[in-house]
Amino acid sequence: MRQPNECHNGHGYAGGSATTPMRDWWPCRRGGHLVIRCRMCPDVQVEPPVGADCDAHDHRAGGG
Ligand SMILES: [Zn+2]
Ligand SMILES: [Zn+2]
Repeated sequence: MRQPNECHNGHGYAGGSATTPMRDWWPCRRGGHLVIRCRMCPDVQVEPPVGADCDAHDHRAGGG
């Protein structure tokens, strides 16, 4: 899977624990998405991007 090595603001993800991003996982019917949260800013990246036909966004809406 393709993974970014820096956030949208240019903060590198490589290096020690201080810069290693927090990773989360959103399961979905299409296999799931890797969620990468930058430690130095509120930037969040989702790989692969959530599409219109994906149900991963439902997790944020609290749907069931
Ligand atoms: Zn950042
Ligand atoms: Zn999905």
